[in-house]
Formats: sequence, structure tokens, C-alpha cells
Amino acid sequence: MASNKYTAVGFIGLGIMGFPMLENLIKKAPSTTKFYIYDVMAPALEKMASNYPDQVTVCGSSKEVAERSEVIISMVPEGSHVRSVYLTPDTGVLAADVSGKLLIDSSTIDTATSLQVREETLKKYPTASFFDAPVSGGQLGAQKGTLTFMVGSKEDDPEFPVLQHLLGMMGANIVPCGGPSLGLTAKLCHNYCSAMIAIATSESMNIGVKAGMDPRVLANVFHNSVAQSTVCDKWCPVPGVVPGCPASNGYRGGFRVQLMRKDVGLAVDTAKRVGATLALGGAGLQCYTDAANDPKCKDLDSRVVYRFLGGNENWDGKQAEREA
Ligand code: NAD
Repeated sequence: MASNKYTAVGFIGLGIMGFPMLENLIKKAPSTTKFYIYDVMAPALEKMASNYPDQVTVCGSSKEVAERSEVIISMVPEGSHVRSVYLTPDTGVLAADVSGKLLIDSSTIDTATSLQVREETLKKYPTASFFDAPVSGGQLGAQKGTLTFMVGSKEDDPEFPVLQHLLGMMGANIVPCGGPSLGLTAKLCHNYCSAMIAIATSESMNIGVKAGMDPRVLANVFHNSVAQSTVCDKWCPVPGVVPGCPASNGYRGGFRVQLMRKDVGLAVDTAKRVGATLALGGAGLQCYTDAANDPKCKDLDSRVVYRFLGGNENWDGKQAEREA
């Protein structure tokens, strides 16, 4: 870690994303780097500690992680969890003296919570730093170390080179988004856009298939025309069009529809807060909310909106094969 001055790194939240992100960090950091970890669920902690016994120490609270580390990274589900991790009296990160330490939250949460945690951090410990740095790239990107980090900082922030170095061990693109909470803003705008593209692609493919078209022909027309998108090219919501993508595998894997619902909700809230008019936000949020609560769609990849909208999944007679 040539440009990284830290030798004790804390990590809080070892779930679907946090676990592989931390593994990459451990593998790529110098072997002398020590890691202090915490999660409310013990099994992930035990697994990580037994995989890397010389480098990893399990802590009993976020406070302990913060006491023993110089940089602390958190990756938990929602704003309420981030508040709990940082602000819980006696056991939260800010219960430790984090003067001069670097705090990075990579959770996808609302900007207001992130700004509140940053403010409380700086009020109590003026020499500490707090950055939002959410990610895109999913579980696969976390495993491969190819995540995109959207960092709530300016490019010329004195801490940015260190952030770039640390986060670069878990990701391929480290993007300074301009200032506090703007990493989250970028993430929420991105997910809102991709969520609406997934609905538009599902709806238009549904029209085409119901009218008798082969969805592969339609996808090829989109690919070569103005409706081209990564959603259609790589994550096509119609099963059997893109081999290997979640829709072609019973919608397993990918980005859970409940998480997409959460992110669209956060984007719609942000739009209200900043006064941005949305034509699609209300209907889109309702669609993801209903899909997330539908037993046929719950826990599956968010492109399952095609199924939710009643799309024909058996257009090629191979649905049973894909569901097996
Ligand atoms: P997850 O539920 O798999 O993992 C979250 C972990 O945080 C769990 O292990 C949980 O026990 C732990 N946790 C919760 N509250 C805690 C607390 N108070 N103290 C310590 N640990 C606590 O979630 P995930 O899929 O890893 O997602 C994490 C974040 O990353 C979310 O904000 C999500 O929106 C975002 N994200 C997820 C994906 C994805 O594909 N899963 C992609 C990009 C971004």
C-alpha cells in the first residue's frame, strides 16, 4: 500500500457485499496490515477470522473496531443500520475517539442520514474525516474487485489519494463525485435510471412478444438503435434472450428486487428534497414495491419486473428448463 498510511483497518458489515470486499482488501494489502471486524451476525465473522487468522481480529462492537483501527469502512443495508453503527451511545463508532481517523460508509442509504452522521462525526472529532462511498457492480463485482465506488469528495480533497488507493483494492473505478453525500446522489440517480430502463424494456418487450415477435429479434433492433441499453444487452428482463443472465436462470442471482425498491424509494425522496419533477417515479416505485411483495418475484433479480407485468416467459417453450 505505497500511498496508504494505514496499517490497521476496520470493517463493519460482512454481508453479500461486505464479505467479498473485505476479502479483496485482505488479499491485496501488505500482509502486515491488521483487520478489525464486526457484524451483528456471528457466522460471517467466524468464517473470515478462520480464513485469515494472522490478520483478522473479531471485535465485540463497532466502537471496538473504531478504537483499534485507523480507517473504518462500513457496509450495512439501510440508513437505520448506519445510524446504529455510528451513533449508538456506548457501542457505536463515535463512542470511540476517532480523532484523525478516516471513516468510509459504502452502504446505499439516504443522503440526509449520511450528512447527519458526517456532521456528528466532525462536531465531536474535528480532525476525523467521513466519506460516503457507495458502490455499483453487485456481488460479482465485489468478488472480482471490480466495483465502481462513487465517492462523496472532491477530486482535490487531500484524502482522495488515500481513498483511491484503499478503495482501489476493492474496485476498478473510484469516482470523486464532488462533495459530501454526492457519491450517494450519483448512486441513487444511477439506480433510478437503470430501474426505469428495466421497466421500459420489460414493457416494450412484452408488447412485442404478445404481438408475436421473437424477443431476440426485438433485442437486436434495440441494440442497433436508440433504445439500446446495458439492461437490454446484458441483463435482458425477458428469459432466454441473453444466456447466463439472471432472467435466463429463473431470475436467480443479480440485484434483488427489494434492494431496487429501496433505492428507487431513496431516489424519489431525494427528488422531493431537491425539487426535481419526476414523471415516472411514482408509478415506478409502485411497480417495484408490488413486485418486491409478490411471492412470484420476491428475492429474485430486479429485472423480474417482466414477470411481474405478466410477460410471456415461455415464448421458446424452455421456461421449465430455466426454472430448474
Ligand atoms: P446484506 O444484508 O447481505 O449485508 C449487510 C450486513 O450488515 C449483514 O451481514 C448484517 O448482519 C450487517 N449489519 C446490519 N446491521 C448491522 C449493525 N448495526 N452492525 C453491524 N453489522 C450490521 O446486504 P448487502 O447486499 O451486502 O448490501 C449492503 C449495502 O450495499 C446495501 O446498502 C445495498 O443497497 C448496497 N448494495 C448492494 C448490492 C448487492 O448486489 N447486494 C449492490 C450494490 C450496493
